[in-house]
Amino acid sequence: MKLEARGLFVSAGDARIVENASLHVASGELVGLIGPNGAGKSTLLKALLGLQPRTAGEVLLDGAAFDRMPPIERARCVAFLPQERRVEWRLRVRDVVMLGRYPHQTGYGAPTKASERAVDSALRLVEAEAIADRSVATLSSGERTLVLLARALAVEAPFLLVDEPTTALDPYHQLHVMETLSALARRGVGVLAVIHDLAAARFMDRIVLMSAGAIAGDGTPAETLTDENLSAIYQIEAVRGMKDQRQWIVPWSRRQTPSP
Ligand code: ADP
Ligand code: MG
Repeated sequence: MKLEARGLFVSAGDARIVENASLHVASGELVGLIGPNGAGKSTLLKALLGLQPRTAGEVLLDGAAFDRMPPIERARCVAFLPQERRVEWRLRVRDVVMLGRYPHQTGYGAPTKASERAVDSALRLVEAEAIADRSVATLSSGERTLVLLARALAVEAPFLLVDEPTTALDPYHQLHVMETLSALARRGVGVLAVIHDLAAARFMDRIVLMSAGAIAGDGTPAETLTDENLSAIYQIEAVRGMKDQRQWIVPWSRRQTPSP
């Protein structure tokens, strides 16, 4: 399966926030969407999902118009972790994760066995079983991120869009989330993840670079995270090396601007 955006434009007032953005994610791929603050990454994800109106372009799921699918079917096909992690509900963690099953529930009865299993499995995947009975209102922001990620995982959708899933997490949980996303992709899920941490690039099959509302590159980490691109898009210099046949990158310094 393939989820694809073609030529998306999003405006707010006179400002163009996303300009002619095209990208795709296929089943079994972990794709990173990377770019500076304000580049338009979150807006692009929301436009892809139909949560933000676009002024032009189309979104296709296996070649068919995604927007024309019934909302409940869209929700079953594409799970989403929004960047905004505020939770207003005073719900138990387990009940928040169960919200991910909403598109699968029929009627108002008790959750099905399949839903209970999906919630157990999602809580296990993010290692949040120990806090399953806590109120979400009492969680740290890192814990909240893991719980909201579990909610998205509980959907068991063929596509998963996650906006900064590792922000606010300690190194153990950053690695844990990246390994989880990678494992989901190996199992056939198409994953699109907005990530700031260049160290996470080594988990990605492909990286889409975004800068000032436009797509500035699309390819393997080695093809996209070149010194030239990091300098032009982020104004930084990075150091890099190899381990286990994978390249690691650490941002090292802001680019030295020539003195006047
Ligand atoms: P990113 O996720 O890449 O950091 P966003 O998609 O959140 O960026 O935002 C892209 C740009 O669009 C930012 O400069 C942001 O301030 C602007 N923006 C987003 N929503 C609106 C809006 N409703 N009105 C005006 N500007 C907006
Ligand atoms: Mg964002």
